[in-house]
Amino acid sequence: MVGPVPVGGGAPVTVQSMTTTKTADVDGTLAQIYALAAAGADIVRCTCNEEEAAEGLARIVPRSPVPIVADIHFHHRLALAALEAGVACLRLNPGNIRKPERIKAVATEARDRGVPIRIGVNAGSLDPEIEERYGVTPEALVASAKKELAYFEEVGFDDVKISVKASNVALMVEAYRQLSEAVEHPLHLGVTEAGPPPAGLVKSTAGIATLLLEGIGDTIRYSLTADPVEEARAGRTLLESLGLRERKGVDLIACPSCGRAEIDVIAVAEEANRAFGERELPLQVAVMGCVVNGPGEARSADLGIAAGRKRGHLFIQGQIVRVVPEEEMVAALIDEAEKLVKEGVEARLAVADSGAVEAAEADRQALLDVQGADANNSEARVELIKKRVEGEPAGS
Ligand code: SF4
Repeated sequence: MVGPVPVGGGAPVTVQSMTTTKTADVDGTLAQIYALAAAGADIVRCTCNEEEAAEGLARIVPRSPVPIVADIHFHHRLALAALEAGVACLRLNPGNIRKPERIKAVATEARDRGVPIRIGVNAGSLDPEIEERYGVTPEALVASAKKELAYFEEVGFDDVKISVKASNVALMVEAYRQLSEAVEHPLHLGVTEAGPPPAGLVKSTAGIATLLLEGIGDTIRYSLTADPVEEARAGRTLLESLGLRERKGVDLIACPSCGRAEIDVIAVAEEANRAFGERELPLQVAVMGCVVNGPGEARSADLGIAAGRKRGHLFIQGQIVRVVPEEEMVAALIDEAEKLVKEGVEARLAVADSGAVEAAEADRQALLDVQGADANNSEARVELIKKRVEGEPAGS
């Protein structure tokens, strides 16, 4: 348990992030913690790098909406101070607190207070002895974690979760695979120093999702060079998209647009994304470029809108319920999404505009008349391809 949040033992995978404020700035740090919690963080870590930070933690912990983990490097006394401040968990880096008596003093105090510790191994700050023996390899990361565990065991402490992060995705994935074979403890996943989005998001997702899909990992953190709110959002989105957490916000899908598109799909999708980002509506919502194919292609979405002849065709599970002017598409989508969540699908289908289906069909037919059934000229291209291939002598 990290405070009231279970980690491991079959509990839902949790999202973590870390504040970027000075921990001594209590109000600034709390404001960021609230923003992180609203974006989906279940647990937040704050640095405890100086005495003022530990004092800040004593003021932050009782006012935080989520449990706080103190991040400790180099100074074991700051770990003891953070425990005094009442944090729900410590993160220790075995690469930079190496004296066994100091490690054991912290573990003893954590044991007596019932506070868990994350052994946070990092490929970039390995214990030099271990690095000399194994190099920067998965084996080195696992050996470092096991060495720390052994110190903890000497004082009868095993309330532990472990991370073996690296900025190299393949190294990180292999290290966690080996670790999951070697220990029973809950694992905290992350690609460290992943960098700014979009590359940082891609790297983090590649590493974290690969492991989660193998059943490895109990809590995750995206380490992005960005506003940490992005980290919390990304973590939450990943877990929702893997079906590991219940959907809290909208899953916006949109067609990639093509020759049939009747609107600027990217602009409308971005506008909808911004508007839905401020709301907690557990729906899949589609923005589709044309009414010719949109409602059918997106019929698995709870709700969607498709453009056609300067109008938006609003549909629930593929059934057209209303036709609105093009400039009101996003507003209509949001209005319907809120009603759908409150009233349910049956009730909303029951009050569909009579005539909406006919109006959409008329727009669809009109577009087909103008564009033909092959607005993207695919069939014409297929014919050309056939001619080219037929013209080639066989076997060449
Ligand atoms: S056919 Fe219509 S819905 Fe499908 S990609 Fe093209 S514009 Fe979008």
